[in-house]
Amino acid sequence: SKNKIEINNLDFYYGDFQALQDISLEVPENKVTALIGPSGCGKSTFIRTINRMNDLIEIAITDGEVKVDGQDIYHPSVDVVDLRKRVGMVFQHPNPFPKSIYENVAYGPRIHGIKDKNKLDQIVEESLKSAALWDEVKDKLDASAFGISGGQKQRLCIARALAINPDVLLMDEPTSALDPIATGKIEDLVDELKQDYTIVMVTHSMQQAARISDYTAFFFMGELIEHGPTEKIFENP
Ligand code: ADP
Ligand code: ADP
Repeated sequence: SKNKIEINNLDFYYGDFQALQDISLEVPENKVTALIGPSGCGKSTFIRTINRMNDLIEIAITDGEVKVDGQDIYHPSVDVVDLRKRVGMVFQHPNPFPKSIYENVAYGPRIHGIKDKNKLDQIVEESLKSAALWDEVKDKLDASAFGISGGQKQRLCIARALAINPDVLLMDEPTSALDPIATGKIEDLVDELKQDYTIVMVTHSMQQAARISDYTAFFFMGELIEHGPTEKIFENP
């Protein structure tokens, strides 16, 4: 299978503290790759190197190579706004904007220059459908995004990420703030979305990685200890 993301000899520092050490990993296209390991081992730091989110931290130093679709995303010629259009992100705590459901999804496309109301309507509908939320919110698109449940908020954040039409979806513990039913819905959704997106997901749950990922990468103290097909990683010795 084709590799969507290639990481070669990646080191990452917060000032003097080395949070990632010599990571090399290939992430295949249209699969779910789970990142697991104990708290503080570098999973969040690692996932944030793939859309250059760590650049927002002043003391961050990234060394090595991260390629998306063969392009080195840390090359000086890369436009970070364009990169984040290709690589979407969903966080642990659902964080919709204090705006309507519609505006949360329309915001990204509008920032990227889509002004036509019919086109925006269409993107909002398609994105909400892709996030399995349309049926639940279609009659209240103008209502505040703060008035829906936690699980719905997280699916709204997924719709917001999908609306800018990325190829890669990064998810940093997307279900750890959710109850089991909402978690199940997100897991089913992730399973659907991999047909169209390459998904990299941090999880603290081995069970979740075993349930929904195709590949698993196991981190420990800033190093990539083991990686491979999930059934191999979890098979009994
Ligand atoms: P998570 O549960 O996602 O790992 P944490 O509670 O570890 O979250 O961290 C929350 C925020 O604090 C993150 O933005 C992280 O980058 C930041 N953070 C974590 N550890 C440190 C640290 N030692 N110094 C400064 N900021 C930190
Ligand atoms: P994980 O996601 O596996 O819980 P993180 O990537 O959040 O791990 O953190 C990896 C290490 O980097 C931890 O030791 C954490 O304290 C440290 N760290 C995270 N964010 C920051 C930050 N903004 N400044 C300094 N240290 C940080």
